Amino acid sequence: LSTSNNLPFSGFRTGVQVADHVDPAKRSEIMRAVGSRDTKPELLVRKMIHRAGFRYRLHSKSLPGTPDIVFPGLRRVIFVHGCYWHGHSGCRKAALPKSRVEFWNAKIAANRVRDENAMMQLRQGGWAPIVVWQCELRDPEEVLRRVTRFLGRVDG
Ligand SMILES: [Zn+2]
Repeated sequence: LSTSNNLPFSGFRTGVQVADHVDPAKRSEIMRAVGSRDTKPELLVRKMIHRAGFRYRLHSKSLPGTPDIVFPGLRRVIFVHGCYWHGHSGCRKAALPKSRVEFWNAKIAANRVRDENAMMQLRQGGWAPIVVWQCELRDPEEVLRRVTRFLGRVDG
């Protein structure tokens, strides 16, 4: 199993920015959602995987990074990452607001470091992690194909 393609970090983001039209109320809503469970992209991925016949556990706190979807028998885990908050490299959805750029850059950078460390620790512990990015769910079938390959089944 090659995990080299699954590394979410190909270098730090180049600072793509968009106009900041998120009002303060909306922003605190975003902030509350940070790190929250059962986000919509995650639910979508879970549904697909479940429908494909895989069974899993959720949010294993005993594993580095608290992976969203855990396959204990296979020693594989899936993270479903929001592009913005986890700083998806080169992704439009990850564009930062123009105001308080340094604040957000620091936050996102810290998250990326934390994510990267979690992936490393998982690999060291004999687990294989992959990341499904929120933006990839525009093509759910491709995500399912990828996840199915990852889980070692080819008859999907
Ligand atoms: Zn993305």
